[in-house]
Amino acid sequence: MHDFAAKLQQPSLWPRVVDYVRWQRALRKAEAEGREAPPMPDLAPLSINLDLTTACNYACDHCIDWDILNSKQKHDDATLRLSIERMAERGLRSVILIGGGEPTLYPGFVEFVAFLKGLGLAVSVVTNGSRGDRILQAAQYFTDGDWVRLSLDSGTNDTFVRMHHPSKKTLTLDEICGWIPKIKAANPALQLGFSFVITWQGGSRGDVKVVENIGEMVMASKRASDAQFDYISFKPFLERQEDGAEVMDPAKTEAELQAVIARIQKNLEEARAVVRPGFRVLASTNLRVLSSGTWRDYTHQPKVCHMQMLRQVVTPLGTFNCPAHRGVHKARLGGEGLWAVPAAGQHETTRLLGAFDASHECGQVTCLYNSTNWWLEELVAASAELPEESGGVEQRDWFL
Ligand code: SF4
Repeated sequence: MHDFAAKLQQPSLWPRVVDYVRWQRALRKAEAEGREAPPMPDLAPLSINLDLTTACNYACDHCIDWDILNSKQKHDDATLRLSIERMAERGLRSVILIGGGEPTLYPGFVEFVAFLKGLGLAVSVVTNGSRGDRILQAAQYFTDGDWVRLSLDSGTNDTFVRMHHPSKKTLTLDEICGWIPKIKAANPALQLGFSFVITWQGGSRGDVKVVENIGEMVMASKRASDAQFDYISFKPFLERQEDGAEVMDPAKTEAELQAVIARIQKNLEEARAVVRPGFRVLASTNLRVLSSGTWRDYTHQPKVCHMQMLRQVVTPLGTFNCPAHRGVHKARLGGEGLWAVPAAGQHETTRLLGAFDASHECGQVTCLYNSTNWWLEELVAASAELPEESGGVEQRDWFL
């Protein structure tokens, strides 16, 4: 899921990567020779995270975006559509509807999915599951490769409610899972995922202690399998540090960490034994690097983060360079309608590529794009001409 370098080498994306790398080379050459910098070619991000709204109808203790939720800022729907159209004309291939906020609460959610699919984009949704009715209405528009992932994080109704505090007091995990067979029947091509952020004693958001759910991993897997989800995906709880960066800080519980990892591994094995054939039990990259003890390797970033050109985050609060810095001022490229005028998007992206020192700003972040950034850095630093043909395999997976 996270081999982004392989995704970028797909024949459908490679030409844009070549344009970007050639421009970076020309940029560095001009800087070294004291000449005027060449303008960015007519590019846009290949993939965006799009927060349709900051509104949320849950109040999760473990929410990483707590500080930006329920702001008064809203998208202007016409400007947002124009921005997406302009990006699509310049290479945008995929949109992940996600939050800072619950995407299905956007008043025109269903129509917006239809709009994105009308542009030929790959579309996925990360939702809290509270509006299964809206996912069902939108189901008809999704095509092969699209997915919807529900952040549920629990195996029982009780833990679900204690973790998420839904505003509708009667909402249960049972009710949410009850929508899945209907959605699957409406569109069997749509992949449906059950997402589970693992929490254990010691985790906190500021002063708030998170509810522990590590004991429900097996139960949640069985539930997801029975409810006709296609997979369950486990990831460890992340925290935001004071400067806003989203980080994994296992050191906080270093003493217990080995025991926690062993417990997670045992739960994953048990989970795989109780699910139906074909159902996938997945460990996220963050979880795998936590388990293998290599997570610190992913905090060593090159100075230039190249991914901030290829994948950006559009929110009602503005456009940002990375999901790990959503809502953070120094990672802000511009307003929410930045790409409605592509030259402005290109100008601001050029500015931040120079100004944002990822080796410093992301020095605590376990960056999922770490190896991809280093691979791109090597391409920029090399002198050999880039091949026009990528040699990569087309997977039609454009989510970055
Ligand atoms: S280096 Fe990683 S965490 Fe930092 S901005 Fe780039 S992609 Fe995001």
